[in-house]
Amino acid sequence: MNRTKETIFSKIIRKEIPADIIFQDELVTAFKDINPQAPTHILIIPNILIPTANDMETEHELTLGRMLTVAAKIAKQEGIATDGYRLIMNCNEHGGQEVYHIHIHLVGGKPLGPMLV
Ligand code: IMP
Repeated sequence: MNRTKETIFSKIIRKEIPADIIFQDELVTAFKDINPQAPTHILIIPNILIPTANDMETEHELTLGRMLTVAAKIAKQEGIATDGYRLIMNCNEHGGQEVYHIHIHLVGGKPLGPMLV
């Protein structure tokens, strides 16, 4: 698989295909997952293509930090911050990654149990 190629997420960032975008700034975009696994399931992605967690570099730290602070802000907005939620990033086949443009899953709105494995 060519993991340097754009995915559907690049089209979502550029608004070339529909998505329920709930936040966008110069570094990151957040939108509702099309196949939610919990009452709240939002993806937070960088606006630049970083295919997997293995490709995260020092130069990406501002963007990666923004992904986390935006996740925390959205959790508060969605009203799930106090009860709690889970932030997940899958990497490659064994991690269950399907879209090769890194994303943080923000999942909550119900008790999730100890772990997802
Ligand atoms: P992964 O398994 O961690 O790569 O997660 C990919 C996620 O992207 C899955 O939860 C999918 O439901 C979600 N997804 C795939 N295509 C779209 C889309 O077009 N819009 C919103 N979410 C999508």
